[in-house]
Amino acid sequence: MASELESEVQAIDRSLLECSAEETAGKWLQATDLTREVYQHLAHYVPKIYCRGPNPAPQREDMLAQHVLLGPMEWYLCGEDPAFGFPKLEQANKPSHLCGRVFKVGEPTYSCRDCAVDPTCVLCMECFLGSIHREHRYRMTTSGGGGFCDCGDTEAWKEGPYCTKHELNISETEEEEDPLIHLTEDMIARTYNIFAIMFRYAVDILTWEKENELPPDLEVVGKSDTYYCMLFNDEVHTYEQVIYTLQKAVNCTQKEAIGFATTVDRDGRRSVRYGDFQYCEQAKSVIVRNTSRQTKPLKVQVMHSSIVAHQSFGLKLLTWLGSIIGYSDGLRRILCQVGLQEGPDGENSSLVDKLMLCDSKLWKGARSVYHQLFMSSLLMDLKYKKLFAIHFAKNYERLQSDYVTDDHDREFSIADLSVQIFTVPSLARMLITEENLMTTIIKTFMDHLKHRDVQGRFQFERYTALQAFKFRRVQSLILDLKYVLISKPTDWSDELRHKFLEGFDAFLELLKCMQGMDPITRQVGQHIEMEPEWEAAFTLQMKLTHVISMMQDWCALDEKVLIEAYKKCLAVLMQCHSGFTDGEQPITLTLCGHAVDTIRYCVSQEKVSIHLPVSRLLAGLHVLLSKSEVAYKFPELLPLSELSPPMLIEHPLRCLVLCAQVHAGMWRRNGFSLVNQIYYYHNVKCRREMFDKDIVMLQTGVSMMDPNHFLMIMLSRFELYQIFSTPDYGKRFSSENTNKDVVQQNNTLIEEMLYLIIMLVGERFSPGVGHVNATDEIKREIIHQLSIRPMAHSELVKALPEDENKETGMESVIEAVACFKKPGLTGRGLYELKPECTKDFNLYFYHFSRAEQSKAEEAQRKLKRQNREDTALPPPVLPPFCPLFASLVNILQSDVMLCIMGTILQWAVEHNGYAWSESMLQRVLHLIGMALQEEKQHLENVSEESVVTFTFTQKISKPGESPSNSPSILAMLETLQNAPYLEVHKDMIRWILKTFNAIKKIRESSSTSPVAEAEGTIMEESSKDKDKAERKRKAEIARLRREKIMAQMSEMQRHFIDENKELFQQTLELDASTSTVLDNSPMISDTPLIALGPEQTQITEQRQIVTCILCQEEQEVKVDNKAMVLAAFVQRSTVLSKNRNKFIQDPEKYNPLFMHPELSCGTHTGSCGHIMHAHCWQRYFDAVQAKEQRRQQRLRVHTSYDVENGEFLCPLCECLSNTVIPLLLPPRSISNRLDFSDQPNLVQWIKTISQQIKALQILRKEESTLSSENSESMIEPQFPEGFRPDFQPKNPYSESIKEMLTTFGTATYKVGLKVHPNEEDPRVPIMCWGSCAYTIQTIERILNDEEKPLFGHLPCRQDDCLKSLTRFAAAHWTAASFSVVQEHFCTLFASLVPNEKYGNLPSILDIDMFHLLVSLVLSFPTLQCQDFSGFSLTTGDLHIFHLVTMAHIIQILLTSCTEENGMDQENPTGEEELAVLALYKTLCHCAGSALKEIPSGWHLWRSVKAGIMPFLRCSALFFHYLNGVPAPSEIQVIGANQFEHLCSYLSLPSNLICLFQENSKIMNTLIESWCNNNEVKKYLEGGRQAISYARESNKLIDLPDDYSSLINQASNFSCPKSGGDKSRAPTLCLVCGTMLCSQSYCCQTELEGEDVGACTAHTYTCGSGVGIFLRVRECQVLFLAGKTKGCFYAPPYLDDYGETDQGLRRGNPLHLCKERFKKIQKLWQQHSITEEIGHAQEANQTLVGIDWQHL
Ligand SMILES: [Zn+2]
Ligand SMILES: [Zn+2]
Ligand SMILES: [Zn+2]
Ligand SMILES: [Zn+2]
Ligand SMILES: [Zn+2]
Ligand SMILES: [Zn+2]
Ligand SMILES: [Zn+2]
Repeated sequence: MASELESEVQAIDRSLLECSAEETAGKWLQATDLTREVYQHLAHYVPKIYCRGPNPAPQREDMLAQHVLLGPMEWYLCGEDPAFGFPKLEQANKPSHLCGRVFKVGEPTYSCRDCAVDPTCVLCMECFLGSIHREHRYRMTTSGGGGFCDCGDTEAWKEGPYCTKHELNISETEEEEDPLIHLTEDMIARTYNIFAIMFRYAVDILTWEKENELPPDLEVVGKSDTYYCMLFNDEVHTYEQVIYTLQKAVNCTQKEAIGFATTVDRDGRRSVRYGDFQYCEQAKSVIVRNTSRQTKPLKVQVMHSSIVAHQSFGLKLLTWLGSIIGYSDGLRRILCQVGLQEGPDGENSSLVDKLMLCDSKLWKGARSVYHQLFMSSLLMDLKYKKLFAIHFAKNYERLQSDYVTDDHDREFSIADLSVQIFTVPSLARMLITEENLMTTIIKTFMDHLKHRDVQGRFQFERYTALQAFKFRRVQSLILDLKYVLISKPTDWSDELRHKFLEGFDAFLELLKCMQGMDPITRQVGQHIEMEPEWEAAFTLQMKLTHVISMMQDWCALDEKVLIEAYKKCLAVLMQCHSGFTDGEQPITLTLCGHAVDTIRYCVSQEKVSIHLPVSRLLAGLHVLLSKSEVAYKFPELLPLSELSPPMLIEHPLRCLVLCAQVHAGMWRRNGFSLVNQIYYYHNVKCRREMFDKDIVMLQTGVSMMDPNHFLMIMLSRFELYQIFSTPDYGKRFSSENTNKDVVQQNNTLIEEMLYLIIMLVGERFSPGVGHVNATDEIKREIIHQLSIRPMAHSELVKALPEDENKETGMESVIEAVACFKKPGLTGRGLYELKPECTKDFNLYFYHFSRAEQSKAEEAQRKLKRQNREDTALPPPVLPPFCPLFASLVNILQSDVMLCIMGTILQWAVEHNGYAWSESMLQRVLHLIGMALQEEKQHLENVSEESVVTFTFTQKISKPGESPSNSPSILAMLETLQNAPYLEVHKDMIRWILKTFNAIKKIRESSSTSPVAEAEGTIMEESSKDKDKAERKRKAEIARLRREKIMAQMSEMQRHFIDENKELFQQTLELDASTSTVLDNSPMISDTPLIALGPEQTQITEQRQIVTCILCQEEQEVKVDNKAMVLAAFVQRSTVLSKNRNKFIQDPEKYNPLFMHPELSCGTHTGSCGHIMHAHCWQRYFDAVQAKEQRRQQRLRVHTSYDVENGEFLCPLCECLSNTVIPLLLPPRSISNRLDFSDQPNLVQWIKTISQQIKALQILRKEESTLSSENSESMIEPQFPEGFRPDFQPKNPYSESIKEMLTTFGTATYKVGLKVHPNEEDPRVPIMCWGSCAYTIQTIERILNDEEKPLFGHLPCRQDDCLKSLTRFAAAHWTAASFSVVQEHFCTLFASLVPNEKYGNLPSILDIDMFHLLVSLVLSFPTLQCQDFSGFSLTTGDLHIFHLVTMAHIIQILLTSCTEENGMDQENPTGEEELAVLALYKTLCHCAGSALKEIPSGWHLWRSVKAGIMPFLRCSALFFHYLNGVPAPSEIQVIGANQFEHLCSYLSLPSNLICLFQENSKIMNTLIESWCNNNEVKKYLEGGRQAISYARESNKLIDLPDDYSSLINQASNFSCPKSGGDKSRAPTLCLVCGTMLCSQSYCCQTELEGEDVGACTAHTYTCGSGVGIFLRVRECQVLFLAGKTKGCFYAPPYLDDYGETDQGLRRGNPLHLCKERFKKIQKLWQQHSITEEIGHAQEANQTLVGIDWQHL
């Protein structure tokens, strides 16, 4: 069937290919009805090309479509061969000065913070790099796809709109020329014809809704009826649900289902079945049934294949159109014209309209194709961009409503184009005036929020997930409003004013619906049953915050607009609060001889709301009146007489009282919803248009009132009036035993009220309220943040409010107030407050949370103590108020205020325990301080125009009047100064008294020259200057005017209210742990120290007594004692690998005996160095195991360690471990039975060993033949003298130690080979030696890379670990099978000394010599112990070492010196050089002519020395730990002659070549045999590669300095499995540099029976399970180990402020921090990645739950 179809298809293809495009086009040119002709062509061919089978065949389809369908169109359009036609067009075209590059997902984009008109203006990387903005403050983000580069758009940039490339394309003539002039008439006509037909065809077919029927023009007779079951994408169902459903419905494999689901997700639809109608319908019903349970079902349609075919071609056509118009601006213009031409149905019937209006019905793939076309056509043509904008605005309401009901993300909606249109200032302005866009947006928004309460305010239902989803969509309208407002007009036309104010009206309607929403009533008695809904209202407020601010900014720009807006806003506010005094009997309050009428209202008993946007907007506008001086210039235009101060302050005061009461604990029963609301009310995201404006509103109202009246109303709203109007309130407390809670509550309320007064008088840093500018405001915020503690840049940014452009304005002022301190290796850069700024510190700064306030207080006092100053924190000197607010200072000297102060001081003097609190007193002292500062300021700045009316000092000197006859405030302060219970406040009181006296002095000195006189003189003097006089006169007029207004305003006085706050605090402090580096101090000795051989320095190992960390008992390490063990972690490693493509394929068959020099897979052992009894550890481990088993059964939680795999955490340091190493004494000293003086030389020794091996072979053979019974010829083996192969040595170790030898050996074997544990396996000892060798090699590399000396610089945990590991490896043979080890030795030995019995051994090019050395030395005792001839073990060690060293030298000579041709060191001078030259000649002789020309001796010797160094260093470490000989002091430091010292320590001649000369006879034979090896020959003939020496250390890959180039690299990376798709989580392997498609279904693979993500899969080949990655989009380092372990780690990229940006949220330019990258590299080289993950997971349990294997 399949092949039948196949051949049919091929037959059709052939016939199709015979069509001629030229002929068809020719026919079309002749046609009378072109449309019909073309449609017939399409109707005939499209179904033949597209959708011929169950699966799309894009390549074939594209090829045929180009040939049969598009080809003719191109011919027609060009009127000639398009191969010539298009290049001609392109040449004639003037390239655009607009870049317009459409961004791919994940591509980096750049915005200039200095020059971009708004943050949506972005550049592509290429344009950015060629622009001036590179040098500016820029932000970098990754694009979510869609959107395009704004390079060349002069409206988008304040400066530098062109990059160097696009600058070349600016036309000299400024005016726009018609692009059509480059085209011929004919061409225009043809293009018009074909575009009109094709565009209409595409639109018609894409918006076609019937499933089974084609449009009549496209129907053909005799079509075959095949169908598709088409599955559509939605954002409701998960990937898993879709995959599961598909497997059931269409009976496919999981892989196929994943494929379907991926395509559906990407393109928006995919056919999942092909066949007859019934067959498809059946699949549809299964899918619908399966997905309709909880949610709405997946959308599925059964569609006729020819419809699908035409739709596929329709999309192809749109793409084609997009590329054709790229040839010429003229073609582009024609397409725009065709697209926007009104259709037959009148308005909104153009093709473009049709597409937009169908947007939400189209599938994702279709949408993005036509969006792209719009972007490359309509938005790239300046003329049509404007026309399109109008169409878009006309359809706005419809498009938004479609979007709100649609379930696709915004980036797939046409509504998202608003950002491209509305952010263009000229377009936005035009749409506001011509299409009334502002009003449209706001009205549309309101229409979507339908629920209102009886007063017409918004009411939000419970905030469900679905509602939140809908609500989020509605919010995009606010974003549109923001775009429209973001660029502010400089010129106002009347039309713009008119339309803006109309929009402002609509906006006020919106705010009106918010004023008073979500009202709350205090819950008494019981807790509320259900937390009321509050989030939606706050979300709305938060989203609107910038819009509200921008509305004010717009108003500020035009006086007329400001005045009108102010009037409108006031009118709406009055509507909101009409009749707030209705039905209430006013009450009269009296205090200190003042009386005021107010309403009866208690916050604690009636409804109160936090949402007061109308009041707050009015407050904002009022400040603008002051700032712009409109209030003084046009008072007659303002409705000032309508202002009722008591009404203005009432609601904000209630809101602030609510906060105070919440803080006093009166609203506890109202639950968290209220606490949260109060939190956000003060939060930096909201406060600018909430809390801050409430303070301003109070300031506004109070400035127009008698301060005494205000204070009384405030007392009443705080429900404190009774307390202060009752003279003996304080005394009553001590007598009556009043409820303590109530007292506490009242105290808090008093404190809060005082705090509010401090704020009302002290907060003058908004321009317009005080004489300050915006810079002063931001400086003050920063000063107060830094008063708490030094902060990082991002912390500061978070603490400061951002404007609509996401700017805080911090950078411009930070230098003035703070110093930057650079970060170290961890942590981040910090800003510290400059010392001279501390004088501006205000303890009662209104944006401090309570926690911040007390921290700041503590920090500032500490600072003062450090500077040996007194610890008073007096109020700072404040800037003067603007005239409109100037009367506020009078609060401080009002009678009621003095009464409040006096009362509280009185309580403090009487000092009864209840009625007052220290913080109450502290606030009163602060207020007194403020008043004194104020008075002093007034006196110092006394000018000709003013008489100082601020006489606080006089007032506080006066004693109270009868009847109370209380002492004066001053007198009470003097009393309190000596009160022992007020020690903390003494400094402050002293400061007050001092300031008081200072003021008195100023007053006294100034009273000698009366104020009036002074004024006169100055006036006269200044009149000399005419100019000055004129200015003076004007100022005078202004002053009079001002005074008039002030009088007018203060005329209207009435009523009331109050305030408070509540906040959260969190601190997290982490302390770093440090490890110490200990010296292993050497023994001082005169004789040179020698590590091995017969001349080895004799060391009496000191007794080693250790303490068990578990039972705390001490024990000596001895052979026959119970075992002591070190916690250890064994892991496979590829850190030293020189070939990452090589890994152990089949661990069961793998033979590890010889390590290849590529070191591709080693076994590393590490330890934290903590010691335990073996039995204590055993018990501990059993307990952990039992606990985990229970825990896993109970709640299937993961732990950071895998008990089943033998993992546990060190009981002391929680370091991840998976086995233990026994502690041992140097094993050689145990078996070194004899010490002979007469020892064999190398030649003799090799001979003897060879004989012994031969004897063993014979013996083995006999045994085997004996066992196979056929014993024919019993040849008596010739045993060398003293060799007793029957001798079996006694094991010296205790049972416990033996057990541990097996335990660790088995663990190494198990982990190293990833096999099941089997202690009998002959590979166990090999793995132990290998791990010893490998671990030493890694440590040698680290020391080398860090340029540290070989000895004396290892942390003691590594020192202990290496010592134990080496000694363990040396002792392990005693626990292994004797004959197995012996056999290993023989094989190893044969690799150097040939033995025909052991064929097929690797050549010397393919053996890592250090591994060979370690294995030989450690297996040698099995042979040696049977030798009773008197040879010493140490002699053997030395000969083995010499032999391997020589082999290594040959290895080096063979591989290293092939490249350079010597630096003309003509005559070899040194003996080494001569010797090595001679050796090289011998080698050449053996190797034949294959070796290269003979280099100089100097060069040879140099490369030998360099090449062998790592080996010698490793050997020194090895023998040091094996034999315990201390290292000579010379190699414990970096210095000259290291090589010579090493040689001496290792018992080597420093002229290494001497070794060959001494043993030339045997060596020549050996060299010859090595060179005769086939592999070596092959290498010499150039037939293969070999590792050369010294091997370079592996490093992590090089990273670019600029992070954005990584982002760019990643954006060009596409998923390797799903054909050209962009990867969602491109992730870079830092070990090998491979880019991976992480965290995605497409790239999951199966690993050991489980599906794993690309990263996990990669770690198995690249890092033996361990991986270090950089997640490029997130800028985050990822550590992985195995399938279940992982953690994130700080990336090595920092911004200019010394901070990382994980998640790339801030977008500051990031640069590589080399030190931090080195730190990561070191973790890797030290094999600490797994350990790091363990620690991270222990510290943060949520990391344990992540499915790391899916990354
Ligand atoms: Zn660009
Ligand atoms: Zn450019
Ligand atoms: Zn710039
Ligand atoms: Zn113990
Ligand atoms: Zn430990
Ligand atoms: Zn890799
Ligand atoms: Zn992929």
